[in-house]
Amino acid sequence: MGLLLFDESFFDHPAAIAAGEGATTMHIRALAYCARYGLNSGRFPKATLSRLTSKRNARSLAAKLVECGLWRDDGDSWIATQVVSWRISEPADELERAAGADRQRRMRDGTNVAVYERDGYKCVYCGVADDLVVDHVVPFKRGGTSDLDNLAAACRGCNSSKRTRTPSEWGQQ
Ligand SMILES: [Zn+2]
Repeated sequence: MGLLLFDESFFDHPAAIAAGEGATTMHIRALAYCARYGLNSGRFPKATLSRLTSKRNARSLAAKLVECGLWRDDGDSWIATQVVSWRISEPADELERAAGADRQRRMRDGTNVAVYERDGYKCVYCGVADDLVVDHVVPFKRGGTSDLDNLAAACRGCNSSKRTRTPSEWGQQ
């Protein structure tokens, strides 16, 4: 959680002009998302895209941003570059207290945040809300992917009990 500061020359910057209005709006929303979750590197999961715009052409807007240098394609993530500089300010003390240190820790990784948010910050197997990790539903070693639909919030207890089994092998659903 932080405040987004960005260069006011943005609107006149050649990269922003080249990207066009739809793409730059999505860029600003991406920066706001990064600020919200403390993603100071500007790296955020590709799965976030649907939350940045309701437009059907989100993918082509993203491609436009990459082409103009405002974003970089990095596999599972996009990275908002500093072609037009931006930064996330330190969160205000009171905001930080409200969010809580534990929540801050969970929010460090953008993908994890998306998983935790979707699963309501609770273990999908037992409902416990503490000490969460991200579990591969079909384990990585068994060919499971790191796509969001194969990831689930799990408490450390369930995660270590399940180990490299699928939920049905483990006896849960
Ligand atoms: Zn659990």
